[in-house]
Amino acid sequence: MEFKDFDLAPEILSAVAEMGYEEPTPIQQQAIPPVSQGRDLLGCAQTGTGKTAAFALPILHRLNRQWDGTHRLNALILTPTRELALQIYENFCAYGKNLPLRCCVIFGGVSQNPQTDQLKAGVDVLVATPGRLLDLMGQGFISLKQTESFVLDEADRMLDMGFIPDVRRIVAKLPARRQTLLFSATMPSEIARLAQRMLRDPVEINVSPVSRPVELIQQRVYLVDKENKANLLAHLIKTLPIPQALVFTRTKHGADRVTRRLNREGISAQAIHGDKSQSSRQRALQNFKEWKIQVLVATDIAARGIDIVEMPCVVNYDMPSEPETYVHRIGRTGRAGQSGVAISFCDEEEKSILRDVEMVIDKLLDIDYDNPYPLGSYTPDPNQPAPARQGGRGRSGARRQEKPREQGRERAKAAQSPAENRPEGHMARRRRRPRRRPKASPERQG
Ligand code: AMP
Repeated sequence: MEFKDFDLAPEILSAVAEMGYEEPTPIQQQAIPPVSQGRDLLGCAQTGTGKTAAFALPILHRLNRQWDGTHRLNALILTPTRELALQIYENFCAYGKNLPLRCCVIFGGVSQNPQTDQLKAGVDVLVATPGRLLDLMGQGFISLKQTESFVLDEADRMLDMGFIPDVRRIVAKLPARRQTLLFSATMPSEIARLAQRMLRDPVEINVSPVSRPVELIQQRVYLVDKENKANLLAHLIKTLPIPQALVFTRTKHGADRVTRRLNREGISAQAIHGDKSQSSRQRALQNFKEWKIQVLVATDIAARGIDIVEMPCVVNYDMPSEPETYVHRIGRTGRAGQSGVAISFCDEEEKSILRDVEMVIDKLLDIDYDNPYPLGSYTPDPNQPAPARQGGRGRSGARRQEKPREQGRERAKAAQSPAENRPEGHMARRRRRPRRRPKASPERQG
């Protein structure tokens, strides 16, 4: 199938060709025809599947077809994070560059004046995060009375970030007769109920479900002492070598610590997390995209939806608190047909999380033992003060020689963490038990 097989305006097709897209991704193949016809849609899809174009292209096509010369805020795209909002906005601008339609993005953390100036001039497509949208609606800068297409993007992340009440308030201001598209990587019951209330006879599309990470991603685990993770990271970046990596830490302080450490090793790195200003986050992201820095260190919330094509490597410096987050994280690599490597560092306490991840993805991950920092090899320098402890594990546990996992792993005790070590966002406080166990592969048995 080719893009020209869709009923899309030639101006849109030429913009898509300029982006270098040769053929539509599965979600685009399934979503573009019904969305062009005005149908509602429930899309179970992760970022990285090409879902932005799956909704942006048919929305632009419909708006262009009926455009009467006035800019009436016909389409609203609601998305949980600023980074994602910016990316969606940039995609709309690129796909619609040959059209007379205007697109605008609004999010918090920056001055509202440039945003309100654009809104006053009139826009056709508005990409927004919930807080700033409600704020500007309250101030009378935005009316959704004429909005015909509404996209709720990353609905599960909206839920995790506590945005669902805001979403409900926004939906209440939309016309009852409208087209609604809802995208979510996972479908927790609250989102399924929301979808049931919001959507009318939707087309349902399910691509690469959360339990099936992209096949192209090479996944590898390193069992390592917590205290040796920074050494191992620097070692791998230098020796593999890793041209560029997105590194995930559990906490904001952790992200800063890793960044400082890499910089000391002569590896250029910057951090993005919730304590950084919007401009500093954008600058770091831009530096990374332009290859001015080698490593971007991020917390899950800050990194959500970051769109960097050809990201060669994702590192789980800390295992995620939720096994599903593992899939979101590694989805940053191996995008749109590119291959990628996902590396995970797992310390003694994180072994239970590794097991949960393996259950969710229904696969045992390869463990790489060939490195200078195997689990149990860390010996504290008697001349140095003990490093800050992040969990409740005893020192003797750190020195214990690692046995292969096949011989049985104990469930690690959930440790009470000091405030600075708490994960960013409250999603991480929820732990769900996966239902299934992966089948052991022959090489892992006995
Ligand atoms: P998304 O899931 O929308 O974040 O898209 C992930 C990445 O794939 C983005 O960098 C898009 O520019 C890119 N992309 C989207 N559709 C296609 C396509 N049909 N062919 C190649 N790349 C695409």
